[in-house]
Amino acid sequence: MRAKKSLLILFALICAVGVIAGSYLAGTSRARDDLRLQGQRQLQLMAPDLQSLLQKYETLPFVLGFQPDLIEALAYPSDARAISRLNSTLKTIQQQANVGAIYVMDRDGLTIGASNWDLPLGFVGKNFSYRPYFDAALRGRAGRFYGIGTSTTEAGYFIAQPVYGNGSAGGPVTGVVAVKISLADFERTWRSSDDAIVLADRSGVIFLSNRPDWIYRSLTPLDAATERQLAHTQQYMGKTVTPLSGQPDLFVTQSVGQLGWQLMLFPGQSRVLRAGLQWALAAVLLLACAALAGWASHQRRRRLEERLASRAALQKAELELNDKIVERTQQLRTTNQHLESKYAKLQETEHLLRSTQNELVQAGKLAMLGQMATGITHELNQPLAAIRAFADNARVFLERGQGEQVAGNLGHISEASARMGAIIGQLKGFARKDEALGTVELAASVRASAFLLESEFRRHAVTLDIDVGVDNLKVTGDSVRIEQVLINLLRNALDAVEGAERRLVAIHLARDGDSALVGISDSGEGIPARVAAHLFEPFFTTKPSGKGLGLGLAISSSIVQAMNGQLTAHNQTGGGARFELRLPLQHQGA
Ligand code: ADP
Repeated sequence: MRAKKSLLILFALICAVGVIAGSYLAGTSRARDDLRLQGQRQLQLMAPDLQSLLQKYETLPFVLGFQPDLIEALAYPSDARAISRLNSTLKTIQQQANVGAIYVMDRDGLTIGASNWDLPLGFVGKNFSYRPYFDAALRGRAGRFYGIGTSTTEAGYFIAQPVYGNGSAGGPVTGVVAVKISLADFERTWRSSDDAIVLADRSGVIFLSNRPDWIYRSLTPLDAATERQLAHTQQYMGKTVTPLSGQPDLFVTQSVGQLGWQLMLFPGQSRVLRAGLQWALAAVLLLACAALAGWASHQRRRRLEERLASRAALQKAELELNDKIVERTQQLRTTNQHLESKYAKLQETEHLLRSTQNELVQAGKLAMLGQMATGITHELNQPLAAIRAFADNARVFLERGQGEQVAGNLGHISEASARMGAIIGQLKGFARKDEALGTVELAASVRASAFLLESEFRRHAVTLDIDVGVDNLKVTGDSVRIEQVLINLLRNALDAVEGAERRLVAIHLARDGDSALVGISDSGEGIPARVAAHLFEPFFTTKPSGKGLGLGLAISSSIVQAMNGQLTAHNQTGGGARFELRLPLQHQGA
């Protein structure tokens, strides 16, 4: 995979290089075509200029050939006046026509008169018989030549015509008249051009150019015959013509004039290079754009794929979540059902407990009633026996007529029966199952409970110390039940001190903050640790069967809790146990 990717990148790089190179080549070839076209247009403008410049003076030597001053001077070369006239005529015409020079040669090629006769480098006296134009003119034809002037060393275009001695064409030729035209002005217009412009002769020798170092160099190597010819005609003043090297292969050419000249233009190579580079750069930019577009589309596709993948993942997660929610809901539903059934069971159990508790309370009461029966019987028997005795005595006193004693006995009978009524009144409450809540004066409850057990305490020779304090403490509750609790506690205390040497039970009522506190302490052996943990458990007892049911504290505790109170037990430092009953006091004014 990785190798494949590298190969692909390599292939893309090769392609890119190919495209860039191709663009470069296409750019250069196009530029060359453009430049060639431009060059041709330029040459088409330049060539007629040169042509017209050469043509302009074509007729001048021909016309001069019929000039009488020339004919006369050639007829009389030794006539100084004729020569002087010739010179001045030639100078005037040269200045008017604005040509380089005009000069006249005799048949031997010797210059007899010239427009520059008065200049240091004047042609007069010079022989130009070696020049081809002289030869042509001497034969009655127009001679044309381009070369470097041997005396002035200035290059020029020479046009020569024969001079006819009889003043009519076709007659004997007495001499030759030549006009030298400078091409310097023409060449000067090339200088501003960036392109190399060249004028070469028939042999390919450059004689005019805006590149000075190209002048008198040949475009192709010269053959021997041409070299000899050049030496003979002194065309380029004997300069050695060496072939040009390193000239650009891009050029346009046009033949001009009658000497087989070539006007050539070599467009600047830098433009070709620039065009090539521009094309290559365009290709690079295009490729970069393409690569960027490709990359962007790749990125977009990837992002799309990622988005699709994440959407799919999201959908999957959603489905999973839905499944989980359904599953969880199901679980919760079953848990709820479990809880509901458990709650129902709990309610049932609670109901059962409540009824059981009520039954237990009732049972406890009955048990206690049974236990108390002995004491109560004894308690009732006493006044009953007293009543009988007082009644019997009263009858005797009545028979004896002792009215006062009778009245005394009746008083005692009344007292005893009142006492019996009180005892019975106390017992009435135990039979009732429920008592409406009301205000309970704790001092009264304490006194009533103590009263019920008074005879039992006495029988067992146990001292009961009662202290109800001075506060009138009131609680909300059921007086019968409170008394049931107190009797229970007092009886336990009584049992606890039974075998003790010092038999003392104390019941105290006091206020403790917002609560009423009833403390029942005894001088027994206290509560052993193993018993303390199970003290309030139903049916827990350490007493022999028949004596204890183990229900007393359990029932008492539940009664107290039902009244928002507390029942606690602990051993006293001085020995013996102390039970504390705490009940919330009624609010003042309630
Ligand atoms: P019962 O008196 O029928 O045994 P209770 O519930 O009233 O049932 O008492 C449970 C047990 O608590 C008693 O058997 C006894 O061992 C212990 N107990 C109760 N009161 C005292 C006390 N004042 N001193 C020592 N132990 C006590």
